Amino acid sequence: MKQTIAIIGGGAAALSLASFLDSTKFDISLYEKNKALGRKFLVAGKGGFNLTHAEPMDDFVSRYAPKPFLKPALSAFTKDDFRVWLASIGVPTFVGSSNRIYPEKGIKPIEVLRAIEKALVLNKVKIHFNKTWTGWSEKEALLFSDETVATSDLCIFALGGGSWKITGSDGSWLSEFKKAGIKTNAFEASNCAFEVKWKGAILDKFAGKPLKNIRITCQDKTQKGEVVLTKFGLEGNAIYALSPEIRKQVSKGTAQITVDFKPTFSVEALLEKLTTTKAKNSTDCLKHELNLSALQIGLIRSYLTKDEFLNKETLSQKIKNFPIQIDGIAHIDEAISTVGGIDLKEINSNFELIKKPNSYCIGEMLDWDAPTGGYLLQACFSMGYHLAEHLNKE
Ligand SMILES: Cc1cc2nc3c(=O)[nH]c(=O)nc-3n(C[C@H](O)[C@H](O)[C@H](O)COP(=O)(O)OP(=O)(O)OC[C@H]3O[C@@H](n4cnc5c(N)ncnc54)[C@H](O)[C@@H]3O)c2cc1C
Repeated sequence: MKQTIAIIGGGAAALSLASFLDSTKFDISLYEKNKALGRKFLVAGKGGFNLTHAEPMDDFVSRYAPKPFLKPALSAFTKDDFRVWLASIGVPTFVGSSNRIYPEKGIKPIEVLRAIEKALVLNKVKIHFNKTWTGWSEKEALLFSDETVATSDLCIFALGGGSWKITGSDGSWLSEFKKAGIKTNAFEASNCAFEVKWKGAILDKFAGKPLKNIRITCQDKTQKGEVVLTKFGLEGNAIYALSPEIRKQVSKGTAQITVDFKPTFSVEALLEKLTTTKAKNSTDCLKHELNLSALQIGLIRSYLTKDEFLNKETLSQKIKNFPIQIDGIAHIDEAISTVGGIDLKEINSNFELIKKPNSYCIGEMLDWDAPTGGYLLQACFSMGYHLAEHLNKE
């Protein structure tokens, strides 16, 4: 007789698991609270649909916190495996200029989802919509809000994080795990906008404008990329990647970041340029010889005193180390991802709950962190594959 498997949740991690489970061994049922699968997957698709990232494995793995936790899953199902699998279901991908990997041009997010859904149908997965899991009965059966009850030999939770509640991933399951004596950590925003109290004149002129080709540093972590200056503060890949460091500092008050507006120049090279320039003044040199944008020059001019701006040594140093104070973090519901959820001490290396044998947790509902840019979806797909591989072997 086949063993029965219940998968709760129908997002990225669950879709991966359900595709890779061996349906000759398992009778697979998936329960999703919405009337459709992959709502957050589709939301991710709106902003570019960055499925994974092409950087080498060691660098790739180093993006995750805590570092060693996801290495086995990421090694079992690498970005290349992900691309090969996507191609096999009719979704060819390409590596963009930033090393991010996307579905080939013209392939819409909904088409990627449909291709995965087709893989689920081929794998004989029974999908039950409008099924909100609400907890366990005394006999460990699965309870749903429509008062139905399900039992299964194995149960895999893939309930997602706590942002973008509209997609169904509202984190309301946290209390049920807590009640069952499983340690959970409160959700916090990651990959989100950070609050900066800009001087008024900067916002009037530059709100919505990007700072490109910059490097941001917080504590000992540094990230190249771009950010957009907004009314709230700053958002974009260069600051998202520093979420853990900034979050830690903001929890104690404020965080300090520094921006390098000219990563390809040293302070000495900048000073040389500023002192030997034929431009009529420093502003012209910044604009025409160092190619700083109007926003970069605007920030430097607004935040430096006149004496500091005229002192070429100070000016060179500030171009390389422009300090910005972060005063807060965006609301959790607006974050691309969250940290918090099931404490990693509660699961073993196969994502099985130590206190609830035969129950597993995968995806963003576990307490790990990674920058956006393909790392989140890759981790969810890798966890789904890794767990399927483990169960198929049993
Ligand atoms: C705006 C935005 C942009 C993003 N862009 C990217 C990107 O470009 N690249 C990238 O790698 N990642 C991106 N992400 C992150 C990525 O989408 C998530 O990390 C990923 O979807 C998490 O997968 P998951 O399976 O763990 O959870 P989810 O995809 O959130 O799925 C969880 C599922 O469980 C269901 N559920 C929840 N509670 C219950 C319950 N009680 N009963 C039954 N079902 C339940 C939910 O309805 C949901 O369908 C983005 C996210 C957002 C919000």
